[in-house]
Amino acid sequence: MKLRLVSRSEMSQVREILHRLQKGYCRLCRKPVSIEDGVLDHSKSTGRIRGLLHRSCNTFEGKIRAACRWMGKTRSVEENLKLLIEYLELDPTSLIHPNYMQEIRRAKPRARVGNTVHNKRS
Ligand SMILES: [Zn+2]
Repeated sequence: MKLRLVSRSEMSQVREILHRLQKGYCRLCRKPVSIEDGVLDHSKSTGRIRGLLHRSCNTFEGKIRAACRWMGKTRSVEENLKLLIEYLELDPTSLIHPNYMQEIRRAKPRARVGNTVHNKRS
């Protein structure tokens, strides 16, 4: 694949093309995004444009990437995220953390149903 440097004057045209290719959806969250609100996300290591994203999704990606770097440079961001997903999908122990009761009292009302504590995996 031959790479091509996009000029700043072509940015709006690239946004329109990606918007069409992505059928009007953000490439990260997969919700509708307008051309005007979309930003061109690119790899900080290669410069290659990855897709049209909501500004908030682009910020989210950057923050997650920065947090993964904080975990250590011996693994890639992708490896750290895979480890995180695997960790979150593990069966938890049967022990309840003492902070949990405070957390559910502070939770939004719609997160609770009566006094029932939902059996969430995490
Ligand atoms: Zn999005």
